[in-house]
Amino acid sequence: MPTGIGIRYRKTERGVEDLDDVIVVGAGPAGNNTALGLASRGFAVAVIDSRQVIGDKLCTGIVGLECTRRFPIDPSFVYHNASAADVTATGADSVRFETAAPQGQIINRAAYVTSFALRAQEHGAIYWLGERVQRVTPDTDGVTVVTDSGTYRSRAVVLASGFGSPLTRQVGLGTVPDYVTGTQVEVSISPCVDKVQLFVGHDVAPGFFSWLVPTSAGRGLAGLMARQQAPDHLSEFLQRLRREGKIDSVAGIPACWGIPLRPLKITHKDRVLIAGDAAGQVKPTTGGGIYYSLLASEIASQVLADALSENDLSASRLSQYQKRWKALLSKELEVGYSARRLFEALNDQQISSLVMQAGAKGIHNELLKSGGLSFDWHSGLIGRVVRHPVLGSALGLINPLLARLAKTPDPLPDQFSDQLPDQFLHHSPNFHPSGGSITEPLPDSSS
Ligand SMILES: Cc1cc2nc3c(=O)[nH]c(=O)nc-3n(C[C@H](O)[C@H](O)[C@H](O)COP(=O)(O)OP(=O)(O)OC[C@H]3O[C@@H](n4cnc5c(N)ncnc54)[C@H](O)[C@@H]3O)c2cc1C
Repeated sequence: MPTGIGIRYRKTERGVEDLDDVIVVGAGPAGNNTALGLASRGFAVAVIDSRQVIGDKLCTGIVGLECTRRFPIDPSFVYHNASAADVTATGADSVRFETAAPQGQIINRAAYVTSFALRAQEHGAIYWLGERVQRVTPDTDGVTVVTDSGTYRSRAVVLASGFGSPLTRQVGLGTVPDYVTGTQVEVSISPCVDKVQLFVGHDVAPGFFSWLVPTSAGRGLAGLMARQQAPDHLSEFLQRLRREGKIDSVAGIPACWGIPLRPLKITHKDRVLIAGDAAGQVKPTTGGGIYYSLLASEIASQVLADALSENDLSASRLSQYQKRWKALLSKELEVGYSARRLFEALNDQQISSLVMQAGAKGIHNELLKSGGLSFDWHSGLIGRVVRHPVLGSALGLINPLLARLAKTPDPLPDQFSDQLPDQFLHHSPNFHPSGGSITEPLPDSSS
């Protein structure tokens, strides 16, 4: 029997609570899946999240089929299967990329993320929502976790507290070295839009891309990623979608949140593991992080379970986590990041040429047949594109610019915190996508 069974966390009136095996900070995909893995092995787990509603985080909810095969989803949470996307580059017609079988799914993300929490609870994990963790202090005997309403003790802690969490800095493991801002709003979508639409080019989302994704009936999500002025770019993008008759109206309030592009160097120390966005386990090509968060948190729970059983929670024992997740994801993160920086250096003409040529039937089929298209694993495709005689020559045009890619990205600003910083809470003054003024404050739902 693993050590810790029977030591159940109970909230009492005392200042310091009973010792728990593991406190998980954050009830996103990474935190819930870690809790599920540990609770199902019999460990006493408490999950603390500052949100009241689990999974209610700014996200589009597109995952690959590999994700939902490995971490099954209730079919009622799937809005659509996606086997095609229309990509429009600046100054060019849209190109349809289609596969014979669906590659991805557009899902009800909050419901999917909650399903992990419900299963963790069935196995005995305890959830405290609406409680913010302020401080995490490991010592030789355990970890003290201070929230805005209590002080708790556990044998170990998992920080799954998402992008920009100050807790990773607090425990001495720093912050992700590069990130981009994602912004999105719910829209009322025109019936003619039944496929994912992507837009690339400096006028829509410099260096990244924007999207229009149909979700439930008549609804969709419009958003983009940008290093700077994301709200302004979204405002212009929404105007364009209206002009083109793709959306009827804006149905929600736009929100922004950060997306890590590079991982932390070290994701463990004595009694502490970091998983998910907090660790930067995100595809740098697309900003998708649900699947990688689930994969990394699965490893976190396995390593932690063994370490708890052996009663060895030293950094050296927990380094197995870092070794294993890096063996699985590092190549993807590194190759994806280089491709991302390369893409950011392309001009509109080069981007259009790349999209048009990649979309040409011959090349598209060639990539498909070579098994090069995968929703979640991009390094193979990137390698094939760079080596491809036609596509590679388009990229060859920018060789002189490669030096720029080595440029060190700007550090994460100090004001980033798990409380929404001003730049993420407030849109620029001229950001009025629906034509009216924003009178209500943004909900604290985008963190
Ligand atoms: C606009 C946008 C669109 C995206 N679209 C997609 C997509 O389509 N597909 C995809 O795979 N990924 C997408 N992502 C990325 C994806 O949302 C994240 O990678 C994923 O949610 C990471 O999961 P996580 O568990 O690490 O963190 P999160 O889901 O961010 O969960 C962290 C949790 O920790 C809580 N928390 C933080 N600090 C504290 C604290 N101090 N105390 C208590 N609780 C705390 C938060 O409330 C939150 O619930 C998108 C991101 C953005 C910004």
